[in-house]
Amino acid sequence: MKCIGLLGGMSWESTAEYYRLINREVARRLGGLHSARIVLASVDFAEVAALQASGDWDAAGRLLATQAARLEGAGADLVLICANTMHKVADAVQDAIGVPLLHLADATADAVRAAGITRVGLLGTAYTMEQDFYRDRLATHGLEVLVPDADDRAEVHRTIYDELCRGEVLDESHRTHLAIIERLRARGAEGIILGCTELELLLDPDADGSVPLFATTRIHARAAVDAALA
Ligand code: GLU
Repeated sequence: MKCIGLLGGMSWESTAEYYRLINREVARRLGGLHSARIVLASVDFAEVAALQASGDWDAAGRLLATQAARLEGAGADLVLICANTMHKVADAVQDAIGVPLLHLADATADAVRAAGITRVGLLGTAYTMEQDFYRDRLATHGLEVLVPDADDRAEVHRTIYDELCRGEVLDESHRTHLAIIERLRARGAEGIILGCTELELLLDPDADGSVPLFATTRIHARAAVDAALA
């Protein structure tokens, strides 16, 4: 079994999910007392969020690149950035290490395509929904990406930083996000990417939504297990 390097803490609420999901999947596949070989580097999210807000992506890239190199030094055979947004600096992270970075948008696009969907809605932070780095990566897989209107984007972004990354899961926000998903569906989205690793704390991909929800933490965790056991 290969050793999975998790670059987490963005936020720790979803990194905890990665840890649980990866171990559970390894146990399911290998049985008995098997669990995953994992090394974790967990950052202080306040530092990362401040760099995001000030637009200093170079510094954010250096911070994550340093942590990724530490993961490799600690024995990681592959590395995951446990957040969608920070794939903005995926190239800087990959350049700092000699082992593969398992890109979240690639794993997600594969799952969407496998479901026979090509027009997909994207929920995430404002950075993920409004900048090119994530949508363009999905587009290279042949996906057409729809994002919510400005008011809805602001509400999704607010919910991520003010509630979910602080461990608050509110019924009202659940209802609001179901309405946002419904508006994307009405515009033609055949499925919705929960393109923030905390969104599946709010929305249940097995029960919510009138179209399939693609939960990126689950997808990424499963892809990591695929790679670790290959
Ligand atoms: N975990 C989130 C994501 O998947 C948001 C936090 C962050 O900005 O890194 O994008």
